[in-house]
Amino acid sequence: MKHKLSAGADAATGVPLHFVDPRHFKHNTQAAVDDGDLRRSFRSAMDFLQNRRAAHFSDRAGFERLRAVGESIRQYSLSRLPDLLEQLERRLGERGVLVHWADTPEQANAIFLELARLHGADRMIKGKSMVSEEIELNHRMAEQGVDCLESDMGEYIVQLAGERPSHIIMPAIHKTRQQIAELFASRLPDTPYTDDVDELIAIGRRVLRDQFRDAKIGVSGVNFMVAETGSLVLVENEGNGRMCTTVPDVHIAITGIEKVVEKFEHVLPLYGLLTRSATGQSITTYLNVISGPRRERELDGPQEMHLILLDNGRSQAYQDADFRPTLQCIRCGACMNHCPVYARIGGLAYGTTYPGPIGSIISPHLLGLEPTQDLPTASSLCGACSEVCPVGIPIPDLLMQLRHAARHDAAPGHVPLAGQGQARDRKEALAWKAWAWLAGRPKLYRALVGIGRRLRSLAPRQQGGWTEHRSPLRLARKGLSERLPPGVTRS
Ligand code: SF4
Repeated sequence: MKHKLSAGADAATGVPLHFVDPRHFKHNTQAAVDDGDLRRSFRSAMDFLQNRRAAHFSDRAGFERLRAVGESIRQYSLSRLPDLLEQLERRLGERGVLVHWADTPEQANAIFLELARLHGADRMIKGKSMVSEEIELNHRMAEQGVDCLESDMGEYIVQLAGERPSHIIMPAIHKTRQQIAELFASRLPDTPYTDDVDELIAIGRRVLRDQFRDAKIGVSGVNFMVAETGSLVLVENEGNGRMCTTVPDVHIAITGIEKVVEKFEHVLPLYGLLTRSATGQSITTYLNVISGPRRERELDGPQEMHLILLDNGRSQAYQDADFRPTLQCIRCGACMNHCPVYARIGGLAYGTTYPGPIGSIISPHLLGLEPTQDLPTASSLCGACSEVCPVGIPIPDLLMQLRHAARHDAAPGHVPLAGQGQARDRKEALAWKAWAWLAGRPKLYRALVGIGRRLRSLAPRQQGGWTEHRSPLRLARKGLSERLPPGVTRS
């Protein structure tokens, strides 16, 4: 019998359930295995990526030396994580960047929405960011009447198709060029069918170019953050990341708290490992180093810049000595490309933001082990993932531990993974729901924000987790101008 992907859609987002619910994993796996086109498409894509990587790491001893450097940088950075995050916040503050801390996806989306309201923006243009996928930014903003358009070509294709990325580096890798051609012809006005790759890219670029000009807010991810210099490093090949971070008046970057390193010297070895492991490139076309909003006499850059640091279960992994190495991940995707299971079923079957071997470890931290308990079984434990991982994460060992935990025979002293969503306090979840409802009513919202500001002295001065010692979110324009360093002006 030929299986089909699960029917039905998520009530909140309209996205088909098989893309958003890991409980469908087993069923989806069978459906994916039955899909000959999907298997052929993935097999050739994975062969291509494996060969590209192998060409750069043909010398095993050389790779091991580089990997040892990458692993030690990531381990050192994590060992100093709280200090580095505080140093980063200070440096960014000196450069005029407002740093926001979000424990949950709801909090991160609330910050985005509040910034959109403050700037009267009904549109954002977004570069590639898996953390924005993690918080379902596009859907949450759409619910509140804010359009969030993807500008990375792969992400744009996936968004146009109403799907989710199937790979963290190449989001539309599951689609053939003929499927993309049909998608463009059916969804973009006045677009004739063509399956010429260059023409398809040109069509996408034409559509997106106008959007950069019109959007008030640009959104980006971050590959590395440098605490010592207060810099955000963004790696990309298309140039859309640079456009998102420089053309709109406001730039909002979002990333996970684990992406910080101490010094700029630490970025370069990680960058080399990332590009070679991900796409088999020595360097990418663009390497953006962002150090604050536009300064006096500068011609380019946003007038205002924000960084949202998301926890979403990372603290839980950090506190567990066994799972802390998960946070070493630099999101290169090599473990996926070399996994015999992922290469056969693709990324959509997992029903999570992060698929493949590392996704099967990250997802239980984000969502809890109950809905994700089948994911750690999606491995033959052949060890290919840990062989290629450029930062030495012991993936098979962690998968085994999660299998034990899912069977409730975790080692003594190990707390079962609750997941960010499940661990969240009910009252807090309700409060964020109420906030989202309010933010959808701009007049009422503005009136209440005005009253709230007058009563600010009564507000709690601390939040939980990583924000324990920090003041509440600083969103008001007044707060922003107070933090501007000398020489930085705001129009
Ligand atoms: S676990 Fe390792 S191989 Fe997999 S994405 Fe992360 S860094 Fe890359």
